[in-house]
Amino acid sequence: MMNKSDLAIFGGAKVVTENGPPWPCFSDEEIQAVQQCMLKSRKDWRYACTACGGAVAEDLEKRFAKELGRQYAVSTAGGGPALHIACMAAGIGLGDEVITVPYSWGQTVSCILQCGGIPIFADIHPKTLTLDPAKIEPLITPWTKAIVLVNIFGIPADMDPIMEIARRHKLIVIEDCAQSQGSRYKGKPVGTRSDIACFSIGSGKNLAAGDGGVLVTDDRRLYELSLLAGMHPGRTGREIETPELKEWVDSFIYTYRIHAFTAALALKQMDRIEEMNEWRRRNAGRLAKGLESVPGIKPLDLPAHLDPAWHMVPWNFVPEELPGVSREQYLKALTAEGVPIFGSYVHLPLNLRKTFQEKHWWLGKGYPWAASARADKIVYRKGDCPVAEKRSAELDLTMGGSGWYKDVSALLDQIVAAFKKVTAKPEWLREIPL
Ligand SMILES: *Cc1c(COP(=O)(O)O)cnc(C)c1O
Repeated sequence: MMNKSDLAIFGGAKVVTENGPPWPCFSDEEIQAVQQCMLKSRKDWRYACTACGGAVAEDLEKRFAKELGRQYAVSTAGGGPALHIACMAAGIGLGDEVITVPYSWGQTVSCILQCGGIPIFADIHPKTLTLDPAKIEPLITPWTKAIVLVNIFGIPADMDPIMEIARRHKLIVIEDCAQSQGSRYKGKPVGTRSDIACFSIGSGKNLAAGDGGVLVTDDRRLYELSLLAGMHPGRTGREIETPELKEWVDSFIYTYRIHAFTAALALKQMDRIEEMNEWRRRNAGRLAKGLESVPGIKPLDLPAHLDPAWHMVPWNFVPEELPGVSREQYLKALTAEGVPIFGSYVHLPLNLRKTFQEKHWWLGKGYPWAASARADKIVYRKGDCPVAEKRSAELDLTMGGSGWYKDVSALLDQIVAAFKKVTAKPEWLREIPL
């Protein structure tokens, strides 16, 4: 018989004692690859010099482009810089409107602000948590220039209908793939359908190489514009071909190039990203199976053509199965047992954050909104994106993802046991003080 005091939240012993595998996880081969890069640079100084182009950064770009079947890739200092470069290349400028989502990491949207563009938020779909294609068209105005969307948690956005709408309205589509390396949409990797796709290889991501990013495109002009935004003239001077762009090769740039050591590390880690992603999928599947009969939690019900390589795994909180128990009480009981779980990754949808509520970005004078003739028509209100708001405030539970890149069965079994323990007597959960 279990007593209330056996629950860890009320002083009992916790169930989960296993740790996840170490993170980050650089293999011996990856460490050697960085060392090789340093050693090669003794003979050829260019090998570790991204500014001049060529060398290891270009090897990484070639591999990215090849694996995605895209024409061009540009390595960058991060996913954020890649997104900023993409918005610059897309020609987003002061007062241009860009349709995006409220349910992401802020940098899906700050890249728009960095160009003086005005984010216009479209709600997400309740099943997939990504941009809802049906919410796009009502927001399009003559000022709309582009769509910036995200494959949040690794879940691919519904690209086919989105690209169809974008083509019809001549909008450029930028895809934030920072969380979705290795995810597949209709059997093809994400980052293959948009005009520009931006990846992060920062230390928390599926391909985790310190800090860096890569953008890909099939459009030569977008490629050259991307180079001009963030690359040293040592490279752009050799690579820009378009005559009218050649005249703009100069040093008025952002230092957005990748570090050579990151490129060397990422290039090597690409050898095992598929294997790591398979474990992320398998571990999430095993946990979902284990939690099938547990009240209060249920996996997302994703359509079969979306195949995420989980960066984080979102779950649904199901309050109907635990009447009178709040998500916060559920989480407190579980975390006390050692379960690595938290509520919403997007604690508050982006459109409800201070920056948008006060229309105040770092320029500090109401820009970029002040640059729009219709600034007074652009308002960010609670209730504009009800699906995202409900996810953040009520439904999201988050557990698993990048860190589970190998077999973590022992940990998963303990997690399932902890869930069964805390839900054995829901009345005890109701007594957890908030
Ligand atoms: C991490 C992340 C970024 C930024 O990538 P960095 O490499 O950290 O600059 C952008 N968008 C999303 C969705 C991210 O998760």
